[in-house]
Amino acid sequence: MTEAGAIPSLPPANFFDPYYHAFHVPFVFVLGTIFGSFFNVCIYRIPMGVPLSMPRSHCYRCGRAVRWHDNIPLLSYWILRGRCRHCGARFSIRYFGVELLTGLLFSLVFARVGYSLALIPALVFISLLVIATFTDIDHWIIPDRISLGGLGAGLLLAAVWPIAQAPGNPLVGGILGPELFRDVPGRWRPLADAVAAAAIGFGALWSIGWLGSIIFGKEAMGVGDMKLFAMFGAFCGLENLVYILLLACVIGTVVGLGLIARDRIWHGRPVPAALASYGGDPAAAEALAAVHPLGAEEQQVVLAALTAPGVVGPLRHHLTFGPPLAVAGCIVYLFGPRLAAWFETIMFGLDRLG
Ligand SMILES: [Zn+2]
Repeated sequence: MTEAGAIPSLPPANFFDPYYHAFHVPFVFVLGTIFGSFFNVCIYRIPMGVPLSMPRSHCYRCGRAVRWHDNIPLLSYWILRGRCRHCGARFSIRYFGVELLTGLLFSLVFARVGYSLALIPALVFISLLVIATFTDIDHWIIPDRISLGGLGAGLLLAAVWPIAQAPGNPLVGGILGPELFRDVPGRWRPLADAVAAAAIGFGALWSIGWLGSIIFGKEAMGVGDMKLFAMFGAFCGLENLVYILLLACVIGTVVGLGLIARDRIWHGRPVPAALASYGGDPAAAEALAAVHPLGAEEQQVVLAALTAPGVVGPLRHHLTFGPPLAVAGCIVYLFGPRLAAWFETIMFGLDRLG
């Protein structure tokens, strides 16, 4: 023990002390890239209905299995220049990107939360966001396994008291939380917050979608986005949900306007990202169909998109709100308290500080 105010002459004995966090960040980064590599498989397979456990990763063109030494996160892509070792088929830079992004996000989460039980929900939440974002970009759907599965996981984690009350867990925070859940026994407050936020989050997006459908005369909000937002509630709590929605609207508007401008400039609608790598090549489409047991519906969508790019059937009927939500969720989860402090200062003036 050191006396109060004294500078410790030696580093702390406990290797998990925050003193050592800088040494642990690279380890967490590598761990993140390994998870990112797995998320690539999830992003690719879940929407197609291919079991995650099923055949090993393989080249989409020659069908050969990817060996373990060609499947090292980040490094393999860089060494092989993003190509198949056997046939030279190109793999999207996205695989590398998702691994890098997951590594960076895991590091960032760790730097914020440190070694705390709150690290468990934080990493689960960030992982779900990465998978949801890229499946939404590729297929314009957020699989129920991610949104509803994540909702279940979030509620479960909120019910485990040591995790729910660990420093860094955003549940029951801010100015509203303690006030709103005053009558709930302390042990169950995080769960009450999570349940209330999930229900209100779903209801809020449903109402926005309903209003939008009246105003625009067509479906304005996907049910997938509503389920995703309910999942956010389970992890972030009611108050953070407000900040996420505000931030997501800002991000969505900026990105949406940018995309509309791009589409106008390039004319015609873009080929979906998931199919762009096949470049409308029928041979590649056949190879894809041979390797992946697509359902009849998916097969139709894939073939339609390949024969007439831009025709993606019922999948594309609204500007996707998933990615802006995910980005906002990530920012608020990591920097919520700081954002809330700014927001309160702006809204309520300096009297709160004085
Ligand atoms: Zn190959």
